[in-house]
Amino acid sequence: MKYTIIDRGDALSKSLVQQFHSLAAERGFIHNNEQPEIVISIGGDGTLLQAFHNYVDCIADVAFVGIHTGHLGFYADWKADELEELVRLMAEETPIMVRYPLAQIEVETSTETLHYLSLNEFSLKGVDGTLVAQINVNDELFEMFRGDGIVISTPTGSTAYNKSLGGAIVHPSIESIQIAEIASINNRVFRTLGSSVLLPKHHHCDIISKKDQRIQLSIDHVNIMHSDIKSIRCSVASRKVSFPRYRPFPFWNRVRDAFLDYDVRD
Ligand code: NAD
Repeated sequence: MKYTIIDRGDALSKSLVQQFHSLAAERGFIHNNEQPEIVISIGGDGTLLQAFHNYVDCIADVAFVGIHTGHLGFYADWKADELEELVRLMAEETPIMVRYPLAQIEVETSTETLHYLSLNEFSLKGVDGTLVAQINVNDELFEMFRGDGIVISTPTGSTAYNKSLGGAIVHPSIESIQIAEIASINNRVFRTLGSSVLLPKHHHCDIISKKDQRIQLSIDHVNIMHSDIKSIRCSVASRKVSFPRYRPFPFWNRVRDAFLDYDVRD
């Protein structure tokens, strides 16, 4: 098995990296940063987002395992003291591979078309004030948006930024993207739908921003400033991200354990 590790950079994560390397060497795993089969992320959900983006170009050939060094994460679900058990299972068991939908965007600027994939979400915000944009769904005008911004999330990202905006939590078996508003302006002059919208796999939306606006585009944890975006096409990506499951941890248990204050496993 060829593996690589991305860590958060703190002392605990770094010592776990060393422990993982020695346990992996005993099992005959090969450390390979260029063409890993498994990418181990040690830190938190943010570290896994970083690992995802480091290997996004070969996403069909890699699978991700997240070890958390703080609180239980959505993607980082192995505890630091379970390292030995994890390596044993990786060596001895055939995991169930779960594959989660991703969101894709095509950003049209005056000079080029840029393509991005996200694991959690894309967000668009006006840098100098209100974001003004026309939103089309399946090439038809849907609404004129004015407000702080728009978030387009994946099902697994629905529990992140989208949830803070009052969006629905979506099971990852529902291949979809969700459009949620950030503080839209609604009065007698300006009107948006106000609730979040789920688009299925075969639909798309275009966000056509007002000319010459400075826009902050965030792709998961990465922020990019643009001043010449003409439009952004958003849809469910054809590629997915894979997570090997060496033990069951159903999505709804993950939601319960992250957001509700019960621990029914005790
Ligand atoms: P960060 O360290 O500030 O992480 C924010 C929190 O989001 C962490 O507690 C992390 O565990 C959690 N998180 C990440 N992905 C999650 C998921 N899929 N489901 C549930 N919780 C999740 O920032 P970062 O590490 O750079 O992570 C970037 C993420 O932060 C973005 O993808 C976005 O979803 C999230 N974010 C949230 C808000 C908000 O809720 N108001 C605002 C900005 C960004």
